Amino acid sequence: MVSTTLAATSFSLLRNYNANVRAFAANVRAPLQHSTNYNSINFLLPLHSRRSLSRVSVTNDEEAAAKAAALNARSEAPTIFDKIIAKEILSSIVYEDEKVLAFRDINPQAPVHVLIIPKFRDGLTTLAKAEARHGDILGHLLCASKIVAEKEGILDGFRVVINNGPGACQSVYHLHLHVLGGRQLKWPPG
Ligand code: AMP
Repeated sequence: MVSTTLAATSFSLLRNYNANVRAFAANVRAPLQHSTNYNSINFLLPLHSRRSLSRVSVTNDEEAAAKAAALNARSEAPTIFDKIIAKEILSSIVYEDEKVLAFRDINPQAPVHVLIIPKFRDGLTTLAKAEARHGDILGHLLCASKIVAEKEGILDGFRVVINNGPGACQSVYHLHLHVLGGRQLKWPPG
């Protein structure tokens, strides 16, 4: 299921971007945590309610971080994935060819959670930016997801996800496919 829901510039740009995103996220998170203030009442609630409150807080954090990241969406600023492609940041590489790189997600949502990215972003900060000229790379990414699933031993049940924009909690503005598997996946997704 594919849900609709990169050229390095200077490091100072990236640093500024990261700092801005962190600052923004901190600003939007603080009031959220404050207003939720569920810790003080948490012990009064049954376990299932505590779990759902925790989930609400995590969800709010994801949404706030996604909104902060979206501020950068329209720019062509480099992302963390450029550093991964340049091998300036270590990643656990699962598959690589001349066009794509597949590496394990740092915050896995399933026993197998691999990201596949085009090495040349070519304007694809989001799937919504796709144009006819991107057909080849989009097909190549999908084919790479099958190779990754096969390598990871999850061909019998895996999911391919593209989060598009803040409404889908996209947090890195360099097109990427999530390949998830290794456990029973539920439907509908969150
Ligand atoms: P999305 O929220 O769809 O934009 O997905 C971005 C993904 O990138 C998230 O699942 C993050 O956990 C993942 N991520 C961010 N930084 C790294 C990193 N340095 N190495 C691996 N995965 C990362």
